[in-house]
Amino acid sequence: MSAHAILPGATLGVLGGGQLGRMFVHAAQAMGYATAVLDPQAVSPAGLASHRHIRAGYEDREGLEALAQSCAAVTTEFENVPAGSLAQLARSVVVSPPAQAVAIAQDRAAEKAHFVRCGVPVAPHALIDSQAALAALDAAPLLPGILKTARLGYDGKGQVRVTTSAELADAWQQLGGVPCVLEKMLPLAQECSVIVARGADGALVHLPVQRNLHRGGILAVTEVFDGNVPPALENQALAAAKSIANGLQYVGVLCVEFFVLQDGSLVVNEIAPRPHNSGHWSQDGADVSQFQLQVRCMAGLPLTAPRQHSPTIMLNLLGELWRTAVDGTALAPPWAEVLRLPGCHLHLYGKDQPQPGRKMGHLNITGADARTVRATALRAAELLG
Ligand code: ADP
Ligand code: MG
Repeated sequence: MSAHAILPGATLGVLGGGQLGRMFVHAAQAMGYATAVLDPQAVSPAGLASHRHIRAGYEDREGLEALAQSCAAVTTEFENVPAGSLAQLARSVVVSPPAQAVAIAQDRAAEKAHFVRCGVPVAPHALIDSQAALAALDAAPLLPGILKTARLGYDGKGQVRVTTSAELADAWQQLGGVPCVLEKMLPLAQECSVIVARGADGALVHLPVQRNLHRGGILAVTEVFDGNVPPALENQALAAAKSIANGLQYVGVLCVEFFVLQDGSLVVNEIAPRPHNSGHWSQDGADVSQFQLQVRCMAGLPLTAPRQHSPTIMLNLLGELWRTAVDGTALAPPWAEVLRLPGCHLHLYGKDQPQPGRKMGHLNITGADARTVRATALRAAELLG
């Protein structure tokens, strides 16, 4: 714990008004903090929940100044926050995660270089940041591969799968000729991730390793059961996540995503310098959630090791679950029927425009044992259609 803990009653700020900001705001408020959200939209999930909403762009100096003035500490809920804005805030207020860690996480090439520095395995890859780099690249060992924009990608956006050098050249044009990383397509057996929280004093705690299922590049399901990731892999994942966080001098909540390959080896995919969709299960399945950890980190409060108390499955609720009525209005899924199932915890983000692929909320399902939770999740999925 830091010598200067920021105690309940103070105001905590967050850059970004999305659902991660909203759930941070809820956790902070439950602990007695006031909150301020900086977001350019008039209506946003976090803005709707916060004591204060400063409506300004992420690079608006006056908006950032107002945030710094009103808060004892500021965090972020998305990694594409301009690192310069975090640096400006850091001149007058506690900021976590640190700007230099966010700068690395927002650039796939810098991120991979950091993993390599930490000695953790990454997918074979190459940086394509110019026509000359493309022309000089011997792409064959990386094909079939995935071309990913170095910056601003999320939920599988900014990615094109390529099998030949000609397709690679087309794909790079299609992505606007911006700096990209070509990554070899790996034979995945499964995907997993881990949430770690690191305090200013270097103390580090973590949630259990989570098993993730993606559909169309978007997280669909997270399962957290004892033994659903082999213990040896779990230990490797934790060791890798710790060295990545320590190497960044990280302060805050960090998610590290992994691929488990068909030969059983582990590869680091990417990091998110914030709470992550795959950690949402912790709101109902653990005694300390990833959002409570975010509050504790930025406030300099002690970090106690989270304990999972229930096997949990998280189902993401994407916009396609909302049907369209004949008059064009959106019809919500049958919540009352879903909530009749034991151990279902509904989280909705206050978004009123369901669109395919848009994250509208999630459902955490807890129970006494993995079998029960799986059966309930299957039933919930059927009801959600
Ligand atoms: P995003 O920032 O959109 O989450 P990711 O790099 O995590 O981007 O890719 C999204 C998903 O695409 C991954 O979770 C995985 O399912 C698949 N994927 C990405 N890279 C690879 C790869 N090199 N080999 C196999 N599958 C991959
Ligand atoms: Mg990802």
